This record gives sequence, structure tokens and C-alpha cells, in this order.
Amino acid sequence: MSDAPTKAFAQRIFSGIQPSGGLTLGNYLGALKRFAVAQDEGIETVYCIVDLHAITVWQDPANLRHATRELAAGFIASGIDPARSILFNQSQVPAHAELAWIFNCVARMGWLRRMTQFKDKAGKHAEEASVGLFAYPNLMAADILAYHATHVPVGEDQKQHLELTRDIAIKFNHDYGVDFFPVVEPVIEGAATRVMSLRDGTKKMSKSDPSDQSRINLTDDADAIASKIRKARTDPEPLPETLEGLEGRAEARNLINIYAALADIAPEEVVAEFGGQGFGAFKPALADLAVSKLSPISAEMGRLMQDVAEIDRILGQGAERANALAEPILMQTREIVGLIRSRG
Ligand code: ATP
Ligand code: MG
Repeated sequence: MSDAPTKAFAQRIFSGIQPSGGLTLGNYLGALKRFAVAQDEGIETVYCIVDLHAITVWQDPANLRHATRELAAGFIASGIDPARSILFNQSQVPAHAELAWIFNCVARMGWLRRMTQFKDKAGKHAEEASVGLFAYPNLMAADILAYHATHVPVGEDQKQHLELTRDIAIKFNHDYGVDFFPVVEPVIEGAATRVMSLRDGTKKMSKSDPSDQSRINLTDDADAIASKIRKARTDPEPLPETLEGLEGRAEARNLINIYAALADIAPEEVVAEFGGQGFGAFKPALADLAVSKLSPISAEMGRLMQDVAEIDRILGQGAERANALAEPILMQTREIVGLIRSRG
């Protein structure tokens, strides 16, 4: 599909994170840190705690409530200012779920069957997976398109879902003969768009991974961070002098990318500094850097979590602002589709 959009849409950023566990270093470097940069550049930013996505796999209700609030605290502690960005939880804005249903009727089975995230998450038990886990990408398209967002900063793992979002927008516009939904741009930038598991350099670091040793949590204390980095899987070779030397060394590459992203430097600069040295020297330097960057965030999250009522108030206000943007877009979508509204 190559139909290019003709209408110019105002630049608006949307992205989301699931309250499916505690935040990881991957979420911070691949998403949160970049969300704050976009906000500080003065672009309109809409950030969502996607609780309806989280329940595509089982969530204990009390844990879900806690994770939602803690994620809100994580956003704020990472530099998201609820006065400048819209911060809310997805289930409070009905447009997401309704638009997702309409997109269930736009997206094709074959498109969703190609999604690698479903295959990864359902594994050998696809027949027992929830229908929601399969339809997840349609809800994600709805999250983005309900705001006519034009740019979506995400980690590398979400690239395929964003391509599907583009396909849905193009097909909807084409089928109904409109130029209504923007064809969004994925924004996948930086040294750490795919932070890997500390236990397996071929697997993405995830908050839902059963192994706590596989990830650094934003709530880990300095000792836990240092210990996880010390035990992170590596190889016996010293660090290379150039990036070419990382070929076939997924674990070494991962730690170098993490260092670069935390220090806001290029991976080339990291190998220039540490090339020739062993992990015995590099790991403690990385642990110090990680602790110095993450401890203030973790401390701020702890402080914010002391006042849950305030977090709920912030999310409530965010939901009102989000709803004011999404509701008119949903109304227009209903009209385009031919869903009549009785005015009795
Ligand atoms: P889950 O395991 O429940 O899917 P997750 O850790 O993958 O959790 P998500 O809520 O699915 O987190 O993703 C939130 C954002 O974080 C997305 O933009 C995603 O691309 C990004 N992200 C997740 N994991 C990583 C990672 N390891 N490296 C870089 N970005 C990541
Ligand atoms: Mg994920």
C-alpha cells in the first residue's frame, strides 16, 4: 500500500506503556527518557498507561492497580510533567476501545497472523491465548489514531505494530474515500532502542520476563543494580576498539549500548574509551553510571507513591484532557463509517 497522505496533520506525539509489571531499564532508555525529550522540545505529547493492553494476559486486580499508579510515578519521575504532557490511563477514555472495535473490522486476519509479538508471547499455547492478545495491535492503532498522532516514539520491538497502524490508517482512508487518519511515523532512535536481557543477549529485556535477573528495574537499589550487572552474561574477550569488533557478541554489544544511552554518548565513544579492557573493568563503571542515573528516579518514584490520591488526581485530569481530544475524532469516525446517532 503506497497511498501517501495528502492532508497535513499537526505534529502530535503519542506513546504508551503497559502496567504489566515494574518498569525496566529497557522501558526507560527505549521509551520514557525519550518521551521526556520530546516533551521538552515543546511538541504536544500524549502519554498513556495502557491498562487495557496489560489485561491481554492475566493481571491480578490489586497488582494491576498498584502497577498503574507506580507506572504513573515512573513517568513523572522520568521527567514527564503532567502540566505539559497529557498523562492518563487508557481505560478512562472510552474512544480507545470503541475505535479498536472499528479497526477489528478494518484489519485483516492475515495482517495480525504475521505479528511476531503475538507469536513470542503466546508461544506454543496460541490456542489458549486470549483473543485480546491476538487483537492487541488493533487496540494499539486505536490508541494512536484516536488522537490523530503523527509521531510515535517506541522501542524497536514495536516497529511491526506501527507498520500495522499505518496499514490500518491507509485502508480506512481508502475504503471510506477520506483523508482522515494520519499515516504515523515511528520514531525509533538512540543507542538503546532494543535493550537485551542480561541473561540472554538474543532476548529483549521485558518487565514481564519471569526472571528478575534478566532485567534492571527502575525500583532496584544500588546493590541490586551492581549485582545484576556483575552477573550479566558476557564472553571472555576484552572489549573491542571499534564497533565492528562486536559482531557476534550480542551481550557485549548490549552493555555498550546501555552505557552509551545512559551517558548520552555514541557507542563508538564507549568502545574508544574501554576498548582493550576486560569486563572486570567495564562492568563496575557501567554499574556506577546506572546507579547514578537511576537512583534519583527510583527515589522520586518512592516519594510520589506516598501520595496515591495525588497520582489518581493527576491521572483523572489527564483523562479529561485526553477525552477532549479523542471524543470528537471518534464522533467523526462513527459518521464516516455510517453509524448513525439518534437525536431523540
Ligand atoms: P511486556 O513484557 O509486558 O510486554 P515491556 O517491557 O515489553 O513489557 P511495554 O509496555 O510492552 O514493555 O513497552 C513499553 C515501551 O517500552 C515500548 O515503546 C517498547 O518498545 C519499549 N521497550 C520495551 N522493552 C524494551 C527494551 N528492552 N528496549 C527498548 N525499548 C523497550
Ligand atoms: Mg512489550
